Amino acid sequence: MQISKSRASRRWRFVPVSVLFSVGGVCFALLVAWNYYGYRQAERYRGGSFRIGVDHNPPNYDWSPDGGASGFAVDVLNEAARRAGIQLQWVYCPRGSRAAFQAGMIDLWPVGYYRKGEYPILHQTRPWSEDLHAFVWDRSRFTRVSEDFREMPIAVMDRLATRAMAERLFRGAAILAVPSRPGVMQAVCEGKASLAFLDIRTVEGLLLNRPEGCRETRLGIKPMPASTDPLSLFSRKELAPLADLLRDHIDEMMTDGSVFAAAERWFSFSSTDVRQVLRLQEQSRSVRWLMVACAIMGIVIGLLVWLIGNLREARTAAERSRTLQSEFLANVSHEIRTPMNGVLGTADLMLDTVTDPETREQIETIRESAISQLDLLNQILDQSKIDSGVLLLETTPFSLRRLVEQVEKTFEAAARRKGIRILATIPEDLPALVQGDGLRIRQVLTNLVNNAIKFTNTGSVEIGLGAETLNGKISVQFRVRDTGIGIPKAQQEAIFEKFRQVDASTTRRYGGTGLGLSISRQLVRLMGGDLSVKSEPGEGSEFRFNVIVAPARATDQNKPQANSMPRSLAGLEVLVVEDNLVNQRVAQALLKRLGVTVHLASNGLEALAMCRTGFYDVVFMDCHMPEMDGYEATVEIRKLEGAISRVPIIALTAGVSGEERKKASQFGMDGFLAKPINREELAGALASIPRRVSPAL
Ligand code: ADP
Repeated sequence: MQISKSRASRRWRFVPVSVLFSVGGVCFALLVAWNYYGYRQAERYRGGSFRIGVDHNPPNYDWSPDGGASGFAVDVLNEAARRAGIQLQWVYCPRGSRAAFQAGMIDLWPVGYYRKGEYPILHQTRPWSEDLHAFVWDRSRFTRVSEDFREMPIAVMDRLATRAMAERLFRGAAILAVPSRPGVMQAVCEGKASLAFLDIRTVEGLLLNRPEGCRETRLGIKPMPASTDPLSLFSRKELAPLADLLRDHIDEMMTDGSVFAAAERWFSFSSTDVRQVLRLQEQSRSVRWLMVACAIMGIVIGLLVWLIGNLREARTAAERSRTLQSEFLANVSHEIRTPMNGVLGTADLMLDTVTDPETREQIETIRESAISQLDLLNQILDQSKIDSGVLLLETTPFSLRRLVEQVEKTFEAAARRKGIRILATIPEDLPALVQGDGLRIRQVLTNLVNNAIKFTNTGSVEIGLGAETLNGKISVQFRVRDTGIGIPKAQQEAIFEKFRQVDASTTRRYGGTGLGLSISRQLVRLMGGDLSVKSEPGEGSEFRFNVIVAPARATDQNKPQANSMPRSLAGLEVLVVEDNLVNQRVAQALLKRLGVTVHLASNGLEALAMCRTGFYDVVFMDCHMPEMDGYEATVEIRKLEGAISRVPIIALTAGVSGEERKKASQFGMDGFLAKPINREELAGALASIPRRVSPAL
C-alpha cells in the first residue's frame, strides 16, 4: 500500500516535468523544421527570374518609359531579391495589380493594402510598410474638419482599396472617385469636393509640386490616424514561399538600416511614419527571436526541472538508505552491547569478591578481552558511521579540565603496570566549561594516550592542554608526548590511513586494528581541527590535535556536573527497569555495592505500576523493552500525580548513538548512561541527583 502510494505520488510529480519537457522538445523541433524549411525555400528559388508589376503610385513606385520602375518599394524589393539570389523583371501594369494578376502578366506586386482573406487568388506577406492618409481642404471655406460626413463630397483616388476604405470611414459621404492623385487635390481647389482624402506621402509630393488650380489655394492638412493601413508584398498563391522569403530579407534590411536608407532617398520631408513602421517591424522581428529564446529556455527549464526531480529522487533514496544504515548500526551496537554488559558487569562483580590470585587473573583476562572486543565494535561502528555520513556531533557543555583529568585517571593503573609515568599539565586559565562534543574529544584523547602507553616501555607519557579564543570561538590544543619506540618518518602519514600500522608485526606484538588514528583524525576534522604527529624512532612521539568549541553560555555554568558533588548514597531508593535478566542482576549487584536499595521492574508497564504506588529517588531506565519501552514509560511517569512525576529518570541503555541520547532527553529523561555499565559513571550519576523530595509534595 505504502509503495503504491509513493509510486503514484512520484508519477504525479513527474507529470509537469514531462509536459514541460515535451513542450520544450516540440518547440525546438518546430524551430529546427522552420529553419530547415526556410533554407529549402531559399535554395528552391535561387537563380530564378520573376515578374513584378508597377503602375503610378509615387513615391512607393512609379513608371517611366525611359527609366522603367523606380521608387521606395522598387529599391527595397530589388535589394531583397539580390539577397535572395533571384532576378526581378519590373513590368508596367497601367490597369493596376488585380488586372495584371488576373491576366497572368506578373508574379509579384511590391506594395498593396493588407486585407486578410480578401484576395483568394493572391498571397499577401506580413505587412512591411504602412500608409497614413490625410484630409486636404480649402481653408478659405472652413477652418475645421467636421466630424459629420453625411452628404459631404469627398474626393478619393479611384482605386478599389482606397474607395473601400473611404466608404468604411466616412459613412453617408458622397465619395468622388478621381483617376489621378493630382486630380483628387484639384477637386478640392476647384470646389468640386469639400475634402480630398490622400495618402500622406502623396500629399508631400503634391505640396511641393502643386497641381493646376491649387497654386493660390490656402490648403489645410489633417492626418487621419484611423486610416493607417498596413502594406504588404503580394504574390500569386503558388509563389507564397518566394514572397515570404523576400519579406524575410526585408526584415533583415530593416535591422541593418538599408530600408531606412531607401526611405530617406524617396520621402522628401516627413519620414517619421516610416521610422515608426520600421520600429514596429523591428519589434516583430525581436518578438520572433524572443519566441526562439523562449523555446530554448523552455527546453532548458524542462531539462533542469527533470534533473532536479531526478536529483531529489536520488537524494531521497540516499537519505532513506542512510537512515536504514544508521538504524542497522544502532541495532548491531545495541545487540552486542547488551550481552557485553553482562560479561563485563559480572567480571567486575567477581573481582570484588574473588581473592585467589589465579582466578582473579583469569577474570581479568575475561574482562580485558571483553573490553577490547567492545573497543573493536566501537571502532568499526564509528568508521562505518563516518563512511556513510551518519556520524552526528553533539554540542553539550563540558569541562576541559575534567576531561583531561579523567583520561589521566583512566590510564594511571595501566601506566603503573608498565612502570611508566603519566602526567597531565593543565593550565590555570582555562574556561570552566565549553560547548562541544566532549565524548568524541575524550575518545580521540583516549586513543592517543592508549597508543602512547602501548608503545612506551620506559619513561613517561605527558598530556598537554591549551586553549585560545579566536573570533568568539575557542580553539583547544591537545598534546600527547611519549618516550616510546617512535615512528619512522616514512610511516608518519600512513598511520592515519585506515587499517595501517607501522609494520605487520605491530598487531602481533601490540594488538590493535590500525583504525584508531584514522577515526581520530576524521573526528577531529569534523570538529574543525586536525591531528598530526612528530616522532623520532627510538626517542618517542608527539601527537597534537586541535578542535574548535564554543564558549558555554552563562546558564550552562549553573548546570550540575556529573560527579561534581560527592555525597553519601546510603538510603537511596533506586528503581532499575531492565528486561534482560543478566543485566538486571549486574545492575542490582553494582548498585547494592554502592549502598543503595534496589527495586526491579522488567518493563515499562511494571515500572509505571510501581511508580503509582511507591516512591523512588531515581529510576534507571532501559530504553528498548517489550510491552512498554523506556520512552513511553517516562512519558507516562511524567503524567502521574505528585512528586513521583518529577523523579530523575536516567537512561541506561545499550543504544549509544547521538540520536538515542537526543530521544531520551526529548522524552523527558534527565540523564544518559551507556552500557556496558561503568561503576564510576553509575556512582557519578547517583551522586548528582537532587536530594530526596518528600513523596507528599
Ligand atoms: P592501532 O593502535 O589499533 O593499531 P592506530 O590507528 O591507533 O591503530 O595506530 C596505527 C599505528 O600507528 C599503530 O599500529 C602503530 O604502529 C603506530 N602508532 C600509533 N601511535 C603510536 C605511538 N605513540 N608510538 C609509536 N607508534 C604509534
